[in-house]
Amino acid sequence: MAKKEFKAESKRLLEMMINSIYTQREIFLRELISNASDAIDKIYYKALTDNGLVFNKEDYYIKVTADKANRTLTLSDTGIGMTKEELENNLGVIAKSGSLAFKKENEAKDGHNIIGQFGVGFYSAFMVADVVTVISKALGSDEAYKWESEGADGYTIEPCEKASVGTEITLQIKANTEDDQYDEFLEEYRLKAIIKKYSDFIRYPIKMEVTSR
Ligand code: ADP
Ligand code: MG
Repeated sequence: MAKKEFKAESKRLLEMMINSIYTQREIFLRELISNASDAIDKIYYKALTDNGLVFNKEDYYIKVTADKANRTLTLSDTGIGMTKEELENNLGVIAKSGSLAFKKENEAKDGHNIIGQFGVGFYSAFMVADVVTVISKALGSDEAYKWESEGADGYTIEPCEKASVGTEITLQIKANTEDDQYDEFLEEYRLKAIIKKYSDFIRYPIKMEVTSR
């Protein structure tokens, strides 16, 4: 399948994430959980004005699944989901959180605390993953799409199956190297601690499942 290229600005941010020597890589989880929470908020607010849509609080949650054997970490949410166009437009371009602006402003300073303080968004997944797969089904659509990227050289997008509305993001967690350890991002106690540290205020339940084989 033909790879589509990221916009130039996104490519720069992506490269920064991929090559990050950043010590606070853990913030990728905060970013993905905050996106999941935003997506559920969108359904919530829609339900307030749309009589045909009922928001049952129990149906809305975020689930974090670590699979140690396959080195994958999956975040799924029952939020509003993304259409094919939204996958392209929202993930194919730079985060709207002002990531590039902050980068420009702070380029001269050292990168260490910067990423932790600003929302860096979806691309922060590439700090810990070498492949990111997003499967999404938008509210009101019967079609689901799979967006996949190994980083700076682009992404693919294709139709796929997904039973329910929402988004599932799977990170293929990087292999350890002599200098960098990534195993911690598959450990339940670590994931729980990171969630407690950065996502304690999230108003939807965050469920967790860890499998070793
Ligand atoms: P920001 O959250 O600041 O807009 P991000 O890079 O974190 O920037 O996310 C980019 C966009 O991708 C979001 O604004 C949203 O439209 C979309 N998005 C990301 N994750 C999800 C998700 N789990 N469900 C629905 N849309 C999402
Ligand atoms: Mg975000």
